[in-house]
Amino acid sequence: MEEEPEYKVIFLGNSGVGKTQLINSVLGDEFDSDSLSTTNATFFSKYIKIKKKTYKINLWDTAGQEIYRAITSLFIKGSCIAIFVYDITDQTSYDDLEFWIEKAQDILENNCIYAIVGNKIDLFCDQKVQEDTAKKLAESKEFYFSQLSAKAEPQSVKDFIGMLLEKYIDKFGEKKGEIKIKINEKKSSKKLHCCSKSRSSN
Ligand code: GDP
Repeated sequence: MEEEPEYKVIFLGNSGVGKTQLINSVLGDEFDSDSLSTTNATFFSKYIKIKKKTYKINLWDTAGQEIYRAITSLFIKGSCIAIFVYDITDQTSYDDLEFWIEKAQDILENNCIYAIVGNKIDLFCDQKVQEDTAKKLAESKEFYFSQLSAKAEPQSVKDFIGMLLEKYIDKFGEKKGEIKIKINEKKSSKKLHCCSKSRSSN
């Protein structure tokens, strides 16, 4: 039987920027206010539809903590889409993007679609990293960019990932995945508390 194409999407960025919750948004899981930081790396599979065709994506969640940074390289290999995440309320997480970008580009070179995501836009009243600054960085590297909120706008997160996959397929065509699928089950609890209203992303 012919294997169906599957696409590896990796989320990179400092611990606490919201990588796990962004993945939850795509999986359709509820937002988890008490999520623990990811250690090492893990992936979750999801089918998404683009132009009436179904594609399997593997969403890779990586640990952002210093002690795991060296092994993250192992997981970057074979990614079709690399998403660099910062927290719009945390300047350091933005400043550290260069570290993650360099790490991924060393391995993936031009065989990948890259994007920068400013997460937690629902906390815009606390925004430390201006949208224009991050947008310019993305433009200078020819990366896609969006400000998103895993908490307030999960649909926008899904749409953004779908758009990136579409761009990947347009650029590189459909290809077969290299890794075996294992669907991880996640449980999450809902406990919302936040700053105020949300704002739409680009
Ligand atoms: P990771 O270490 O990058 O995987 O970060 P997590 O996904 O575990 O999120 C870290 C913390 O930020 C958790 O307390 C989440 O509930 C919170 N968080 C994640 N995304 C958002 C968001 O869009 N808005 C808000 N307000 N909090 C978020």
